[in-house]
Amino acid sequence: MRAWLERFMYGRYGQDDLNGFLSIFALILCIGSLFTLRSILTSLAMVSLFFCVFRMLSRNAEQRRQENLAFLRVKGNLTRFFSRTKTRLSQSKTHRFYRCPSCKQQLRVPKGKGRISIRCPKCGTTFEKKT
Ligand SMILES: [Zn+2]
Repeated sequence: MRAWLERFMYGRYGQDDLNGFLSIFALILCIGSLFTLRSILTSLAMVSLFFCVFRMLSRNAEQRRQENLAFLRVKGNLTRFFSRTKTRLSQSKTHRFYRCPSCKQQLRVPKGKGRISIRCPKCGTTFEKKT
């Protein structure tokens, strides 16, 4: 059985991060459809599972790799965005956040110091803000 599976999967793309996401997404949709009895959720889950199996059995590894890279790029951007938002929210009582007017670097300064001059450590531009 194992040898047969190894022979069957030889040259095929297999599992990656996007397929992992698609299977979890399909599972969540299935559970959601059990509670809401919406057939659209079941249909979306089936499409997601079909795409997952198609990608796993595909022999066009380069195309699947490109899809996975695009997925990882989007996932990384979202992860960074939520991580930064979480940090900003946790420090919002003690710090203020500004963007450098010339290089757009995000800067953090302590709150409640009045009008201060801020020097960007990246490009050296100085600007004034009220904290
Ligand atoms: Zn700057």
